[in-house]
Amino acid sequence: MAEKTKGELLQEQLLMDPKNMGETLPPEEMKRAYDFCEPYKDFLTRAKTEREAVAWMVKKLEESGYTTYRRGKEYKAGEKFYFNNRDKSLAAVTVGSRPISQGVHIGASHIDSPRLDFKPRPLYEEAQLAYFKTHYYGGVKKYQWSAIPLSIHGVVLKKDGTSVTVTIGEDEGDPIFCVTDLLPHLAKDQMKLTMAEGIKGEQLNILIGCQMFGDTEETVSERVKLNVMKLLSEKYGIVESDFLSAELAAVPAFPARDLGLDRGMIGSYGHDDRVCAYCNLMAEIDAKDPAYTTVTVFADKEEVGSDGNTGLHSMWLADFIEDLAQAQGAQVRHVLERSKCLSTDVNAAFDPSFPDVTERRNVAYLNYGVVLTKYTGSGGKSSTNDASAETMHFFRKLMDDAGVVWQTGELGKVDQGGGGTVAKYVSFHNVDTVDLGVPVLSMHAPFEVVSKADVYMTYKAMEAFYQ
Ligand code: MN
Ligand code: MN
Repeated sequence: MAEKTKGELLQEQLLMDPKNMGETLPPEEMKRAYDFCEPYKDFLTRAKTEREAVAWMVKKLEESGYTTYRRGKEYKAGEKFYFNNRDKSLAAVTVGSRPISQGVHIGASHIDSPRLDFKPRPLYEEAQLAYFKTHYYGGVKKYQWSAIPLSIHGVVLKKDGTSVTVTIGEDEGDPIFCVTDLLPHLAKDQMKLTMAEGIKGEQLNILIGCQMFGDTEETVSERVKLNVMKLLSEKYGIVESDFLSAELAAVPAFPARDLGLDRGMIGSYGHDDRVCAYCNLMAEIDAKDPAYTTVTVFADKEEVGSDGNTGLHSMWLADFIEDLAQAQGAQVRHVLERSKCLSTDVNAAFDPSFPDVTERRNVAYLNYGVVLTKYTGSGGKSSTNDASAETMHFFRKLMDDAGVVWQTGELGKVDQGGGGTVAKYVSFHNVDTVDLGVPVLSMHAPFEVVSKADVYMTYKAMEAFYQ
């Protein structure tokens, strides 16, 4: 090989040169990335709501030796337990060898995703067709949710207090559902509307039946609606008023699949943010005798602003850490001020079909590794946790030392839009916090895309943080 020129040597020494992992990652490491993602796809396919994610994770944690948290109990270093917050958010802990007064290491992700929630009184009949009315949850481009297969997931609390879990449309042989759209032949007026208005909120109605109850002698009204309610009553023992005490939602019915001829990507509903949740869960389970106590948080409600007592714009996490602190005779505020948090959430990957919304030097690229995001927000850094230079230094060193491939990323051009994560709700509690996560194409669409190598690097970053 020819000797490097002075300029080349100086370039190496002084300049930053982000590279695609295809140029840098050894083949055995790439294979590990592919292997890591096999069970991740299964998780995505089986856990499409925060409740399903909590149930799946609790099972996984128990299989891995975690027990239910007992308030007041003093746990020893290396012990593992979890705290289930109302079956909708979760925290898993591995006790560190250092006293909790030296701080904890928090990995925070969210397990809710954009979807179509049912209204409290959803069932109706129109033109002898039965529908469920929905209210979309999170930031969706509404037109993307029409004319795709949907499944129904959720829980119903019956009047007598018994709870029924509902999943229809996931098993082969199950019926599926959809929101209908207008045929192009008659869409002359619709096609003139903006994409925001092409499908309106009140048009996100889910088609669920067309058959009438009874025979030709039957005289009651709304026989299609009645027939649907009869079927639901037979299967789940519910009546129409039970929808009032329910959480039901429609989500894309398709499973997570390999994407691309090289199978380098995964296409699925709900990568945001179950991809980081999965990486954090695996790093949490793999943490053996960490120095700092790990607190791995899986939050609900991020997609609607984190409000509510299962979201992170509430006291539940700080209260939980206070309980942990008290068990070791420490003050929670002293624990929090010495703690660090990786707010792990997806970031937008550069999309060559839409280059104009991003700034090429500060956007994240697919296959360039996990993204460290100093700040999110919009406009003049409004509503963001802007990580300090010291916090950025801590994590860049941590990842470099552990051989993690990482990149920086800003969510789009200045003044193009923006978004937020749970970071600011954790740093509110006086915790040094920064955003980290997987770059995603088609974020918030019913079908999102991530690269397997990026997913694996997110796991490796969390593993380094917890060890
Ligand atoms: Mn997210
Ligand atoms: Mn999101």
